[in-house]
Amino acid sequence: DDGRVHVFSVASGSMYERLLRVMMGSVVLHASKPVTFWLLREFLSSTFLEDVPALERALEAQIRFPPAISWPEFLIDGEGAKIGIRDDLQRLVWASKLLFLDGLFHAHQRIVFVDADAVVVGDVAELLTLNLGMAPYAMAPFCSGENMNEATKGHRFWESGFWQNHLEPHNETYKISALFVVDISTFGMIGDGLRTTYQYMGPDANSLQNLDQDLPNYLNGGDRRSVALASLPQEWLYCESWCNARAKAKAKAFDMCQNPATKEYKLDVARRVADPLWSALDGYFASTMAEPVSVAVRAPAGSSWKWSV
Ligand code: UDP
Ligand code: CA
Repeated sequence: DDGRVHVFSVASGSMYERLLRVMMGSVVLHASKPVTFWLLREFLSSTFLEDVPALERALEAQIRFPPAISWPEFLIDGEGAKIGIRDDLQRLVWASKLLFLDGLFHAHQRIVFVDADAVVVGDVAELLTLNLGMAPYAMAPFCSGENMNEATKGHRFWESGFWQNHLEPHNETYKISALFVVDISTFGMIGDGLRTTYQYMGPDANSLQNLDQDLPNYLNGGDRRSVALASLPQEWLYCESWCNARAKAKAKAFDMCQNPATKEYKLDVARRVADPLWSALDGYFASTMAEPVSVAVRAPAGSSWKWSV
């Protein structure tokens, strides 16, 4: 334990880079310990990379890069293509955030993955002491019961059919991958198994539609349940599509997840769900990056400057 919280994220494309800066700002603002962000360099633009020193100052946080991912031979097909990626950048990002964690981080570390499009208002340091039991990772379940959004009831794909049959016998529910905690040493023990399962499921166009989410949920159920997926408290993931106002009031993290009914543009979701915080941070980074050196992101000591969502 080096006294820091290690937050892993990935962004590709200028919109996700913009979302990423806001996400990082929101994490730091609410964290009780210093934060180190780990970003996959290979997806970032040269503009973003040039701004890293200024961004570190603006955030009062460290930004580091894990080693570049090199895909093992057995995940490359006869044509030289990465298995299961289907020429889709989004799928490559999803694969990169999950499949190789034991190669990216040191065995003793615990890391918290946070989607670039999330806004965090809870203290990420809380997640360091959470008991994962035998599980290598933990994710929050989708909102249900008193937290459920009635308007999207018909879209709750995990409450019937395959996922229900797969998980219910184990008393498990489907969990969301927008924010998750990983114990790297435990992950190291299951990493090869995870990649082997990916190797045979990846080529099937009907499997792993939501790669990074479906794979851990799949391994957590069925007859041959092989890798446990621990639960984070529900508050750690609010997604407007599935959660209601009651859930929002308690939420510690908001993901601007795709609404299956409206397919609304992410930045509009962000402003609606997380303003005034989102726009304040977005404006702050826009001005800081244009003109490096800055006021700190933290509210001045003793001020009553309070951020809320
Ligand atoms: N992502 C990205 N570029 C893309 C798609 C995805 O950087 O074009 C990353 C980003 O970190 C994002 C995560 O992958 O937060 C998961 O995708 P997304 O948040 O779009 O999924 P959703 O929340 O809409 O289900
Ligand atoms: Ca997301």
